[in-house]
Amino acid sequence: MRRIAEHKRKIWKAMEHTIGMRIPLFLAFLILTLVPLLVQVRFTSGYFYQSHVEERMAEAQNRCLILANKIRSSDYINVLLSGNPNPALDAELSTTADLMNGRIVLADDSFKILKDTFGISRGKTLVVSDVLKAFDGETSSYLNQKKKYFYVAQPIQAKSTDAAPIDSDVAAGNGKNTAGVQGVLLLMASTENSALLQEKIVQKTGFLQLVMFCFILIADLLAAACLLKPFRRLQQQLDMVAEGNLDQDIDVKTYRETRDISEAVMQTIRKLKNLDRSRQEFVSNVSHELKTPLTSIRVLADSLMGMESAPAELYQEFMQDISAEIDREGKIIDDLLTLVKMDKSSPDLNIAQTSINGLLEQILKRLTPIAKRRNIEITYESKREVSADVDEVKLSLALSNLVENAIKYNREEGKVWVTLDADHKFFYVKVEDNGVGIPKEFQERVFERFYRVDKARSRETGGTGLGLAITKNIILLHQGAIRLKSEEGKGATFTVRIPLNYIP
Ligand code: ADP
Repeated sequence: MRRIAEHKRKIWKAMEHTIGMRIPLFLAFLILTLVPLLVQVRFTSGYFYQSHVEERMAEAQNRCLILANKIRSSDYINVLLSGNPNPALDAELSTTADLMNGRIVLADDSFKILKDTFGISRGKTLVVSDVLKAFDGETSSYLNQKKKYFYVAQPIQAKSTDAAPIDSDVAAGNGKNTAGVQGVLLLMASTENSALLQEKIVQKTGFLQLVMFCFILIADLLAAACLLKPFRRLQQQLDMVAEGNLDQDIDVKTYRETRDISEAVMQTIRKLKNLDRSRQEFVSNVSHELKTPLTSIRVLADSLMGMESAPAELYQEFMQDISAEIDREGKIIDDLLTLVKMDKSSPDLNIAQTSINGLLEQILKRLTPIAKRRNIEITYESKREVSADVDEVKLSLALSNLVENAIKYNREEGKVWVTLDADHKFFYVKVEDNGVGIPKEFQERVFERFYRVDKARSRETGGTGLGLAITKNIILLHQGAIRLKSEEGKGATFTVRIPLNYIP
């Protein structure tokens, strides 16, 4: 059993990847339209059969009632018992039996068959439960669906006990006429005719059904094709995109589904375009940034070469400048490599439990002398001891960049405040300065690669324009976040939030 289910699942899985949507859609339509049609035909013919049989049974009861009245009034049973003939009633019994396509049997109160229109059971005893009921004065009928026949048992009242004809109660089958039942009239008839009639109806409607079936088949095929048209259009547009045409509009809005797919694809295309644009921008920025120190070196070297007998001090000075430019080039390359390493799909992170207080103290120890050169005061406040799962080297680089910037983009005798705090989930490092600040319109962009607010100042201070991009990447790798608040001329505040526990 389980193996069959497994097998079925496999087949279904294989089909899932290969069959088109048109097939299940068409099948669904077909089932939905054909099943009601077939059910309706079956139901109608069944209903026709049932009502035809009921009608015949009602007619049989009426005829039996009429015959019973006649038998009673002409004292037919006694006439038969005395051996005298009654050809008129004999003929009427036979005609009724023929009309009903059945057989009539008349039995007296000792269950002896006095008359049988088939003429085969005369003299035999008739014991059927419904005949016994009839001797209690009850008219009854019985239908055998399987063997396709019915019979009606009609009591015949003795003439002396009842002056009036059998009352309507008896006629309706509710007879409570318990006294003086002289005999029973039993009419048996086949329902074969009704069944044949039903079959004929089914056969006759068969052709109509075939025509309807063909019509429905074509209609269903057309409907399925029509419904799938927008999906085909979507497919064509997507094919164009797959061929590299990123300017192709995807705009099939016929259904909500196609509209949602179109929007999702357009969003993906927009992202791809942005990515492409930023890649191009990045490449041109990198080329430009790498070319700048090289141009300076070339200018310095050319001027030296142009001087025929330059003094040794000038050589010394120019060589120092050339060396500084080479250092700058090296720093740009180092920063770029750091970024590339972090851009990998799975950058190497050496996560370990680290004291953040210790880490910040080390950073500040290294940067305080640089700050002192411009009389900038660094204040460090740790609100609690914090230990977290971090990559010490990378986080140290990220936080150093922030404190370095707070010093670089500060004024003489400015101030830098570094605060460490934590709650049960995160730790927070706030680096605040009262330096030049960042105008509102540039605040979003300072995290972009090579973006600088003040290009001259950044270059002067040895900035590459990659510091904040590296910082942001490192913080994101730690599943953290960075926020900037600043007002031009009043200073800037960078707040870093990182989870205490790293979840890979
Ligand atoms: P850079 O190497 O130029 O410092 P960053 O990526 O570190 O590059 O910073 C990008 C730009 O953001 C800087 O050029 C500077 O204009 C601005 N910036 C960064 N930090 C601050 C700060 N604390 N105060 C004012 N401006 C800042």
